[in-house]
Amino acid sequence: MAGPGGLTPDYGNSTSRPLIEGTVLEFCRRLPNVTFLERTEVSALRATGEGRRTCTGVEVRSRDDRQTRTLEADLVVDASGAHSKSGEWLQQLGLAVPEDEVVEGYSGYSSRWFVTDQAWPSDWWWKVLFLRLATPEQPYFIGFFPIENQCWLLSYIGVNKSYPPRDESDFTLALERLATPAVHQMVQHMKSISPVYSSRATRNRWRHYERWRTPLGGFIAIADAACSFNPRFGQGMSAATVSARVLKECLDRYSIADPRLPRAFFAAQAHFQRTPWLIAAADDLRLPMSEGNRSLSIRLFNWYRPQLVSCPDRRVGARLGQVTQFLRPISSLFAPQIVSRVLVASTSRRIKAILRKPASPGVATMPPEAE
Ligand SMILES: Cc1cc2nc3c(=O)[nH]c(=O)nc-3n(C[C@H](O)[C@H](O)[C@H](O)COP(=O)(O)OP(=O)(O)OC[C@H]3O[C@@H](n4cnc5c(N)ncnc54)[C@H](O)[C@@H]3O)c2cc1C
Repeated sequence: MAGPGGLTPDYGNSTSRPLIEGTVLEFCRRLPNVTFLERTEVSALRATGEGRRTCTGVEVRSRDDRQTRTLEADLVVDASGAHSKSGEWLQQLGLAVPEDEVVEGYSGYSSRWFVTDQAWPSDWWWKVLFLRLATPEQPYFIGFFPIENQCWLLSYIGVNKSYPPRDESDFTLALERLATPAVHQMVQHMKSISPVYSSRATRNRWRHYERWRTPLGGFIAIADAACSFNPRFGQGMSAATVSARVLKECLDRYSIADPRLPRAFFAAQAHFQRTPWLIAAADDLRLPMSEGNRSLSIRLFNWYRPQLVSCPDRRVGARLGQVTQFLRPISSLFAPQIVSRVLVASTSRRIKAILRKPASPGVATMPPEAE
């Protein structure tokens, strides 16, 4: 339900990144078979065998004394995120790297933390604020979420090369100029407790390990290290979680040292990642400044998506929700029973719009002649 000023009453739990990561870390520390190496980073892959086709471990470097050492492993999992250096490390081993696909939406984030101890005004009917515009005319997206400890996190995401201000006073000024006064009013109701944090590292990047002709035995790349998405779609953490489940399912079938494991995992992971990829990359490619391959499937999906989103049929809405929650693959949006409902709804909307069109005023009647 859309409310006044384009506001939508969305409900859910939002938390800060430090709380999510701290909680996950706390759980992981309880796992008896996990060892943490603090202040240590991976600096290279180690490989052996004919043509160095088998990964045998990693080189790690201490951040304190810069000393390096080798950690041997039956399976190396690159989970180092969107800025993974595996491509460089594979090249250092003289190996071919997987094909890279990039969709650059030229978006930027500016976020700021606020705190409030004031009562919520009774006429503020919303609990969280999303402005999902991101069009060439209104090239921004706003999320204003309540998080832990009476804090709120405001993220201003500019798209289509309309980057949000990094400077505090320009940031506040930009909030005053939004399509709704609500954001600015909320900010005035609160106290800022952080500087403005900015990031422009938002491109979608898919390292196609599933098409890699010469995979390195004993090595896989998971989650963002294989495929990362523009964060404005808020799907990276869920996608990473699904990738972890895919790995577990593969490990249920193949042993860690099984040479079939990397290929099986990359294929299964890519099959899943196609859904978040299309959601994010196709939407970025709607915007004229974005760069990337506007393939036939992307163009088709971008034609179909607005019809899907505006379709009033409950079954279509439910299917769309299942796809965005990763419960079904994106191909399920093209099932005949969904496509037919979408087409019927969009055709009937068009017919209604034609019938509603006001009749042509025709030739204006002549004013009565003055006597
Ligand atoms: C600004 C921004 C906002 C986002 N907002 C959301 C959101 O609202 N919702 C959502 O679902 N997703 C969001 N994301 C995306 C989400 O953060 C990622 O998709 C997700 O964290 C990916 O998980 P990962 O485990 O693959 O990688 P990461 O979470 O990036 O973890 C990689 C880890 O590897 C470590 N590392 C890197 N290199 C090395 C090395 N050489 N040696 C050792 N360690 C290394 C890093 O320090 C890091 O701890 C956002 C991303 C950004 C940038």
